[in-house]
Amino acid sequence: MKCRVCRGPAVIDVRRHNANFCEEHFLRLCRNQVERAIEQHRMLSSGDRVLVAVSGGKDSLAVWDILLELGYQVDGLYLGLGIDGYSGRSEAYARAFAKDRGLSLEVVDLPADYGYDIPNGARAARRVPCSACGLSKRHLFDEAARRGNYDALVTGHNLDDEAAVLLGNVLRWQGEYLGRQQPVLPAGEGFPRKVKPLVRLGERETAAYCVLRGIEYVVEECPMAEGNRHLGYKEALNAIEERSPGTKHDFYFGFLDRAADRFVPVVAEERGAVGSCVRCGAPANAEICAFCRLVERAGGRAPEAGTDVPLLLGRPPTGGVS
Ligand code: SF4
Ligand SMILES: [Zn+2]
Ligand SMILES: [Zn+2]
Repeated sequence: MKCRVCRGPAVIDVRRHNANFCEEHFLRLCRNQVERAIEQHRMLSSGDRVLVAVSGGKDSLAVWDILLELGYQVDGLYLGLGIDGYSGRSEAYARAFAKDRGLSLEVVDLPADYGYDIPNGARAARRVPCSACGLSKRHLFDEAARRGNYDALVTGHNLDDEAAVLLGNVLRWQGEYLGRQQPVLPAGEGFPRKVKPLVRLGERETAAYCVLRGIEYVVEECPMAEGNRHLGYKEALNAIEERSPGTKHDFYFGFLDRAADRFVPVVAEERGAVGSCVRCGAPANAEICAFCRLVERAGGRAPEAGTDVPLLLGRPPTGGVS
């Protein structure tokens, strides 16, 4: 097995590209793919202050590392979900990555800071854990990005994630979700720009990237993921990809090229004309935002009116899709 670029011994095959790569050229491929995604979708501009949502897993640590390599100024944010054992181990990897490199990592902890954890809070609020988790993450990541006045919030969603989410959304034709399925969501009133620089890399590649770069990450999956639909969609796509390499890429990027525009107005409508939550001040379409309602039902401590971080509205976006 020889590297496509230098003909030296290869360490990995990437069937989607029908090629093998040595360590040096594989790492370069990963950086190039991220750079290309950033340019193609106008995700970031040089000089942007970037906040990355870090889980302690391979994807978020890989994207943090690659963005630093590309010269961006990137801080991390870790959200502790209070999931027995798993959360502690994930946090340790996130902290170690930041400490070893002298990076800034903010840690928000649901049990300590908001008085609930995902398994018990979701039960009390009569939600499935991933729904309570997703809502908490969206709210607290947005809030941290506003508070820190960051230009963009980065997440580690990779091609496998995006293709699986797309499959789920297409199977039910969920227009609102399809409208959000962009590699970039531009900033809106009270919402940071959200970007996914790993959309051109699969999870096998981000795992290999971490191994080759000596990045240690939590390998186990979140126990709450077991049996959820998303994993089922991933397995289905993996079976198809096995027989036809490149299908995930064509499915996702074909959607972006040919269909995604049709669904964007649904989100623009939803992101416009929002008011503020009377409890926490976050953008909301009701008196009390969905996060504060969740915290209340989960038996946690909602932020009190006037004591939460003020909204930093009106900062002009420095990039994003037009
Ligand atoms: S699997 Fe569900 S509960 Fe676990 S981190 Fe993901 S969204 Fe949260
Ligand atoms: Zn090579
Ligand atoms: Zn609120």
